[in-house]
Amino acid sequence: AGPDPAIEIIRNRLSNVKHKILILSGKGGVGKSTVTSLLGHGLAAKNPDINIGILDADICGPSQPRVLGVRGEQVHNSGSGWSPVYVKDNLSLMSIGFLLGSPDDAVIWRGPKKNGMIKQFLSEVDWGDLDYLLIDTPPGTSDEHLSLVQYLCGAGVSGAVVVTTPQEVALLDVRKEIHFCRKVALPVIGVVENMSLFVCPNCHSRSEIFPATTGGAGQMCTELGVRMLGALPLDPLLARCCDAGDDFTTQLPHSPAVQQLRLIVDSI
Ligand code: ADP
Repeated sequence: AGPDPAIEIIRNRLSNVKHKILILSGKGGVGKSTVTSLLGHGLAAKNPDINIGILDADICGPSQPRVLGVRGEQVHNSGSGWSPVYVKDNLSLMSIGFLLGSPDDAVIWRGPKKNGMIKQFLSEVDWGDLDYLLIDTPPGTSDEHLSLVQYLCGAGVSGAVVVTTPQEVALLDVRKEIHFCRKVALPVIGVVENMSLFVCPNCHSRSEIFPATTGGAGQMCTELGVRMLGALPLDPLLARCCDAGDDFTTQLPHSPAVQQLRLIVDSI
């Protein structure tokens, strides 16, 4: 069999998208979806003249509609494809969450069906002109990642941002993730360390909730020769904003997390 015809269709569909970035993590719960939404808001705020799209490709655990405060919105299929939901003028989102009857509905699909959905998302969403398409992926290296890489190979994927916590169990899986990227020739843009530090709002003491016994993400980046993009602190207000679907970057613009985020946004 020749190459999948979808590769050519996806290449054409995404020809007006300048940078296509996958957001990866080794483990679940390290903040990959949070970082994806923060990058979206951060990029959108940095320059109102650029357009950002987020594709929530975490088929079984789509959390972007909630985190971005657009739960319950509908996507429409027009003649030119599915229209994404607009979070703000220059930030749009497509997620399987919009296609489920209720947010509690479970998606229990085997690999081929999930891959079909990813193919459809990549080939049928009408993003318009985008400067950045951020793709939130499931944790680990699963079928969905292979599909994404396979389908995006003709479309010129920019690379991957890998999210981890400083904890050794998370770092172990991130090393595997980086090796996966190398195997499939996906450039690693860099690593974001999330939940690296906690500053007590009362006494202002600094605690390492997830101690970096082996030097954390910074040390791992040096060992593996990849860029450390920055470190985001653990911030209860950030968690609250995510639950409420509020834009943390405008709610708390002076928080250390948002200041760190700006540095990360500048480096991608
Ligand atoms: P993943 O996508 O890796 O599974 P999530 O982004 O869903 O992880 O984050 C897991 C939980 O941790 C969420 O409840 C989120 O609000 C919270 N969280 C993520 N990063 C932070 C942070 N830096 N400070 C506080 N809470 C965070």
